[in-house]
Amino acid sequence: MASTTTPTRSPRAARRLQAIPPTIFTEMSALAVRTGALNLGQGFPDVDGPAAVVEKAVEALRAGRNQYAPGPGVPELRRAIAAHQARPYGIDLDPEREVLVTAGATEAIAAAILALVDPGDEVVLLEPFYDSYTACIEMAGGVRRPVTLRAPDFRVDVDALRAAVTERTKLLLVNTPHNPTGAVLTRDELEAIATVAVEHDLVVVTDEVYEHLVYDGRTHVPLCTFPGMAERTISISSAGKTFSFTGWKVGWATGPNELVSTVMSAKQWLTFTNAAPLQPAIAHALDHEHHFYEELAAELQGKRDVLCEGLSALDVDVHVPEATYFVTTDVRRYGWSDATEFCFALPERAGVVAIPSQVFYDDAEEGRHKVRWAFCKETATIEEGLRRLQAADLHA
Ligand code: PMP
Ligand code: GLN
Repeated sequence: MASTTTPTRSPRAARRLQAIPPTIFTEMSALAVRTGALNLGQGFPDVDGPAAVVEKAVEALRAGRNQYAPGPGVPELRRAIAAHQARPYGIDLDPEREVLVTAGATEAIAAAILALVDPGDEVVLLEPFYDSYTACIEMAGGVRRPVTLRAPDFRVDVDALRAAVTERTKLLLVNTPHNPTGAVLTRDELEAIATVAVEHDLVVVTDEVYEHLVYDGRTHVPLCTFPGMAERTISISSAGKTFSFTGWKVGWATGPNELVSTVMSAKQWLTFTNAAPLQPAIAHALDHEHHFYEELAAELQGKRDVLCEGLSALDVDVHVPEATYFVTTDVRRYGWSDATEFCFALPERAGVVAIPSQVFYDDAEEGRHKVRWAFCKETATIEEGLRRLQAADLHA
């Protein structure tokens, strides 16, 4: 019998779930635990966020903030989110009407898609895609229309984007900084996307959970700041990546009242509300702990370099990311025609777990040879992973 930790698609499951494979992250993290391998797969940091923020959560627990938070989120967090959007980006939001706190970015994405997509509606999205997008589009009965970011540079093909939009397109789903490629969309790319969205009067959902984890002096620019975009964009982010509290699942959706309240109309039936004592702690983090994520980005850039250099020395093709937690490699030089087989062989061969990027693609050929490695781990862990890989026979 399958363990409850590895969701399977039993014949009793609803049809809308039959087309959705179990999330690769659960599968690969369970594999790491089972085999004792180092987990360079699922993207979670192995060092927690600021102690002062944990203390704020403890204070809130002790102060009796343990019952349901208001559906849209506690007022101080909504205010802090609005201030966070104002500070670096110049986005002007009414915390009462244009900010919604969610159970991680994951719930914001699910609620946005369920609230906006009817069966048969098309969603244009960047491929490779974060796996929850495809699951939510399937659950809503929508049809995905991928626009592929192709190796080695993973740039947006604007002609392909234009070709993907039809009269059935309901939503444009954009992820920047991008998981798994690590691409940060440029101003030109964002401008081109904005032009298409305005031309076709599309609603746009942007997933910006890696907004602060950007390297080499690049900056993330929110799509909602381009002309014509504020009124059509739902921007999503999360404290998970920004403050290294992925387990707290505190995220948010911001945008015009009409769209945010539409997301709320689905969100109220999913979790209703979550993380009451953690919400004030994240408000504190947003208001006072920006140095944390600035330092985190600098540290992660160093770890990226350690992992990329180590992987290059192994003679695999390495695509150096501009942001995020992840590096992509191509494993063809080792004679593997299928990186999924490579990833399943890796714990035994080398005591390391990585993610086969195939699961993020509809275009099987584009994804077949790619592997995603996480560097949001302690440097010693990355170095040990590299030592193990160096000592192993990685050939097919
Ligand atoms: N979007 C992307 C691109 C991600 O990588 C992740 C994983 N953190 C999420 C959304 C989910 O975020 P959260 O953990 O806040 O639900
Ligand atoms: N965002 C994380 C990643 O891409 C995983 C989150 C999850 O396990 N759902 O690795």
